Amino acid sequence: MKIICDTHVHSSNSFDGESTVREICESAVKKGISSVTITDHMEAPEIRFGDKSVYGNAVESITQSVCDVEELSAEYDGRLKLLKGMELGEPMHMPNLTKKALAIADFDFVLASVHNLYDEEDFYYLTYTEDNIKPLLTRYFDELLDTAKNADFDSLAHLTYPLRYIVERTGIRPDMEDYAETIDEIFLTLIRRNKSLEINTSGLFKQIGTTLPDLDLVRRFRELGGSMVTVGSDAHNCRNLADGVEEGIDIARLCGFKSFTVYEKRQPKQVAIWY
Ligand SMILES: [Zn+2]
Ligand SMILES: [Zn+2]
Repeated sequence: MKIICDTHVHSSNSFDGESTVREICESAVKKGISSVTITDHMEAPEIRFGDKSVYGNAVESITQSVCDVEELSAEYDGRLKLLKGMELGEPMHMPNLTKKALAIADFDFVLASVHNLYDEEDFYYLTYTEDNIKPLLTRYFDELLDTAKNADFDSLAHLTYPLRYIVERTGIRPDMEDYAETIDEIFLTLIRRNKSLEINTSGLFKQIGTTLPDLDLVRRFRELGGSMVTVGSDAHNCRNLADGVEEGIDIARLCGFKSFTVYEKRQPKQVAIWY
């Protein structure tokens, strides 16, 4: 039996999310999804600037997200498993404030992301040239390694995130071999710390056309001894819920994984891949 779980979903409690948690639940039931983890944004700039952040007050929005999930998971009990997560952006930029964010609730799942480098804007807003791609990606993987080594999280989200925008805007597809040493160290760190690697399926619907990270990198993670992957759509509205998740699970299978991972109360649970 196919079991589809989406472990990376944004509700309207994220500054860039469109659908309410209820709309997401309705869509999940219609699509026959077994479990959904709501992972609203908690970005370092939000924690730092509070109400003055362009993203809004994250402490309030995450508290609301948790509240919505608790209410609806009781209502949908027996039809859908709804889990309480958070996408923690740049946890190493302000470790003390990150601790505060983690204490807001008894989360089921915490994703760690790097969307922007120290003193830079989100990769979404940057301008790319032939000259700056390499230094930016070098800094990106270095920060990701620092995150993998030191942050409190369960799964490392969308490794190769900047490629979403670099490929779209320049047509350049940077060779990941140039960063292989750092990427290997990130993978070995995840394995040593018993953390998961996320297969983020949002890239399948963008110009890059691959998961983040792609099959070659997921395979490398497996070769080095990786045993846990989470799969998430990164949907920002209920229409895109679980888009690509089946393909993401298939990539895990092709790379040698027999199961994918879903976290409950921050404990990894393996879900067998059905074929
Ligand atoms: Zn993200
Ligand atoms: Zn996300």
